[in-house]
Amino acid sequence: SLRRGRRNRKTRYRQPRFLNRTRKTGWLPPSLESRIANIETWVRRIKKLCPISAISQELVRFDLQQMQNPEISGVEYQRGELFGFEVKEYLLAKWNRKCAYCEVENVPFEIEHILAKSKGGSNRVSNLCLSCHSCNQAKGNRPVEEFLKKKPGVLKRVLAQAKAPLKDAAAVNATRWELYRRLQSTGLPVEVGSGGRTKFNRKTRGIEKAHAFDAACVGASTPERLLIRGIKPLKIAAKGRGTRQRCRPDKYGFPKAHAPKAKYFQGFQTGDIVKADVQKGKFAGQYIGRIAIRFRPSFVLQLPTQKFDVHPKYLRTIHKADGYEYQS
Ligand SMILES: [Zn+2]
Repeated sequence: SLRRGRRNRKTRYRQPRFLNRTRKTGWLPPSLESRIANIETWVRRIKKLCPISAISQELVRFDLQQMQNPEISGVEYQRGELFGFEVKEYLLAKWNRKCAYCEVENVPFEIEHILAKSKGGSNRVSNLCLSCHSCNQAKGNRPVEEFLKKKPGVLKRVLAQAKAPLKDAAAVNATRWELYRRLQSTGLPVEVGSGGRTKFNRKTRGIEKAHAFDAACVGASTPERLLIRGIKPLKIAAKGRGTRQRCRPDKYGFPKAHAPKAKYFQGFQTGDIVKADVQKGKFAGQYIGRIAIRFRPSFVLQLPTQKFDVHPKYLRTIHKADGYEYQS
């Protein structure tokens, strides 16, 4: 007992170091957190510029999940691309209600295993596709590469489409309630509408399909007449603010290069939007674009169609890097 007692006499309290790795409730993976943070940023910025009095949020883009399971959020998202909603409905959406092999529409579809179950194929959604009865029979349990030997284009498309999950669907479902809460915390009244409502609003007002117009049609508060003529949306893409990682590893994790500590060179920073007036050389001319700096007077100017090296003496900053790229 002397020995045991010594183990906790005159020792400070130590927090348990075992089973202490819990996540806060409402935790989201960084990729999703970033999506929400971007929206928050732009709500804040637009509020500064315009007299915003209310927010309309499209709470569900993909109604099929709302029908199946109204409470898809964080946990389900983490358990895989599909947890909680019906496979067939999901496949219909993923394969656009067409046979994956012959693209026939409006026929009864069967769920088809791309790598047959008898050959060890799994029931994972990435191994499933939609096919008509005759294609399914014709393929049998043969490998898809053999079945589509004479149609390499179709093969490539099927394999690519099988791998790509409805990623945005999952992201929207995992973040929507958290986004709703955060929008409410701005103090403005927040109205929610479904994707179906958006479509209805857009169709009844005779507006063509575009992301920007969809955004204008969200929710029941959409006015009868929307003045959208001649309005060009400003496209904003989140580009990050650089990384703190100084050691750049190769794909095996071995150090490959070292990035300098500084972020600025000659007053420029990666991500600045500049006006370039190149006086001579192959790329002489005037441009507006985003730069990536190097620590020598040769920066990379990125334009929508090309990128090339420029000397900073030709550059004038028109917008300081703020983590976003803009295109009109
Ligand atoms: Zn078919």
